[in-house]
Amino acid sequence: MFGTGEKTPLQHGDRDGDNDNGCFTLQRLRKELANGRLDKAMAELEGLSRAELCIDSNTYSMLLKQCGKVKSLVYGKQVHNHMMTYDLDHQTFLGNHLMEMYRRCGDLDSALLVFDGMYNKNVFSWTIMISSYTEQGYPEKGLQLFKQMQDKNVKPDKVTVSIVVGACSAICALEEGREIHLKIKDGVLESDIFVESTLVNMYAKCGCLAEARTVFESMRLRNVVAWTVMITSYAQHDQGEEALILFRRMVSDGVKPNPYTLVGALTACSSLRSLGSGRNIHVAMLRHGFDCNLTLGNALIHMYGKCGSWESSWNVFCKMHVKDVISWTSMLDAYTMHGRTKDTLQLFEEMQWEGIIPDKVTFLSILAACADLSAHEQGKRIHATIISRKLHTDEMLGSALIHMYGRCGDVEGARQVFDNIHEHNTHTWTTMITVYAQHGLGRMALSLFDEMLRKQVKPNEITFVSVLSACSHAGLVTEGWHHFDSISKVYGMSPTSEHYACMVDLLGRGGFLKDAEDFIQQMPIEPDVLVWRTMLSACTVFNDIERGKRAAEKCIVLDPGYGAPYVLLSNIYALRGQWKEVAKVRELMRENGAKKQPGKSSIEIKDKVHEFLVDDDAHPRISEIRVELDKLHKKMEEVGCIAETNVVLHDVEEEIDASLMKHHSERLAIVFGQMMTPPKTVIRIRKNLRVCTDCHATIKNMSKILDREIIVRDSHYFHHFKDGVCSCKDYW
Ligand code: ZN
Ligand code: ZN
Repeated sequence: MFGTGEKTPLQHGDRDGDNDNGCFTLQRLRKELANGRLDKAMAELEGLSRAELCIDSNTYSMLLKQCGKVKSLVYGKQVHNHMMTYDLDHQTFLGNHLMEMYRRCGDLDSALLVFDGMYNKNVFSWTIMISSYTEQGYPEKGLQLFKQMQDKNVKPDKVTVSIVVGACSAICALEEGREIHLKIKDGVLESDIFVESTLVNMYAKCGCLAEARTVFESMRLRNVVAWTVMITSYAQHDQGEEALILFRRMVSDGVKPNPYTLVGALTACSSLRSLGSGRNIHVAMLRHGFDCNLTLGNALIHMYGKCGSWESSWNVFCKMHVKDVISWTSMLDAYTMHGRTKDTLQLFEEMQWEGIIPDKVTFLSILAACADLSAHEQGKRIHATIISRKLHTDEMLGSALIHMYGRCGDVEGARQVFDNIHEHNTHTWTTMITVYAQHGLGRMALSLFDEMLRKQVKPNEITFVSVLSACSHAGLVTEGWHHFDSISKVYGMSPTSEHYACMVDLLGRGGFLKDAEDFIQQMPIEPDVLVWRTMLSACTVFNDIERGKRAAEKCIVLDPGYGAPYVLLSNIYALRGQWKEVAKVRELMRENGAKKQPGKSSIEIKDKVHEFLVDDDAHPRISEIRVELDKLHKKMEEVGCIAETNVVLHDVEEEIDASLMKHHSERLAIVFGQMMTPPKTVIRIRKNLRVCTDCHATIKNMSKILDREIIVRDSHYFHHFKDGVCSCKDYW
């Protein structure tokens, strides 16, 4: 499994003799064989056949070895036929060579035929047969044979033992494995470094890491295989720390790692998100003279991606001479994971130019990027590719597609994908329910949830988050309580803080702010920042200054780095003229290094995603867009559509400076969409923060004046603006 340490059963089984019968043909045959020309040697054998001449055992065995080496079953069978003429295939020595040839060629049936026909089977005969069974995917038959062998009093040697232990690990036959281990300890069975490392592997494969470690520590000498098994197993069982400790010990013991060891250690770094250790291993790798081949390069890209350095992923990616679909997909993932989704889409295009066929994992990564960017057109094209590859009925891809369409604001598209999936699971149901809930289609979400329950599919925690938020958006307080109670009473799960936050939202939305606050006080788990932020939102909508202040204070304590609550709190104090308090809050914000995220909006036009920031001139057509936007503002004023700049408690995330507000990024994106698309086309915008109240009111008017449906996905919700109203009913 790990490259070295494998012994072939016949390695110590052949002797060399010199029994030339003097025949010239035979001499030529041997010469050809010695030069590795099997086809010419076989032609000479043909001549011998016609002359009805038998050859000596050694020449037969050399022929068979060569056939096995190049895996030529056809020639191997010809040699076998030749031997059968002289009834030589039942002999132990030649029979073993025949079996070994068949083993190497992967012909289990023929090997068995020879095995059964042998007059005297020795340890090699049994070992080859056990090995054939194991290699061809019948390790349990190999184990049966091992029992028979012992019953017939044939003593297994070290090679036999290591092959049998290998059979045990192949099918996780822990009991049989332990039995063999016991016999080794009692001295009944032989052992050596190879047997010991297969034992380590066997225990590790069966998930018994502690026992594997015991054997490992008891080894007097440890080869790289044993080290690698231990390191890889710890990494795979989420014990990255232990894997790295062993790796360091191995290096200081002077054992040179092989590529598998390095992959194991890199996996450990990925799961620990330990960039420093990852870099060290990369350095060690270069020091040991490994270059970025496919396996190592892929592991490095993955590690750097997981550890937060997409730049390093990119460096490795560029240095690799050969790249496969895994390399490309890992790089796409690294981009997607760090929000560089625009780069993901671009790289995906390059990947296709390179002729690399994307696989399921690639599609999952690219759909996540489309979803994040609301790249509807590209998402649809990828959907078409997935259909042409006949992958669209797959549940995982199906869920990813539903999610993508939902995020692009295309609820119908999402439903079509949902209806085309053959076998639904909790995940696909939940994703569709979530799409309905996020688009304010609460009733649809709930009726789909009912259908899910009728089909006896068990909901999970995420399903309930969506169901509760559906109740909240549809204003269904009674249903909300009912479903909330069922989480623990019917499904035996404990509600998470997300579920509590949903309930706070449900109460807050109805204006029951006191009930919401009481509910928070009575929570059996400590309310987290999500719960308090939800409370704060409700307070801002209903202008509840006292409760808003309390919620904002909690938010600041729980997440000091998040800027919005400071702004809100200082606005509250400013409203009351408590300027000292205002200064204190501002000071606190500085001390805690809280920052406000810059608002960013994007729109996809003809496969290209355009991004806008509030006071950013990066877009090539920005001056044109600003002129158009100003015209639009004027027009709205003329017809009396002036957005009310609301009081203090309104905008908690973005600048409320009126002049800047007019150029909030979503407005720029909408105007650009208006300029670039034919009339009546739906404009789809993605915003990284919440839409502010002022923009929300303005976009409602825009939808009326421009006669366009405008779908804005903000950090919280989907807003479908049409004819001057929004689907969120002004609560978000
Ligand atoms: Zn705004
Ligand atoms: Zn809205």
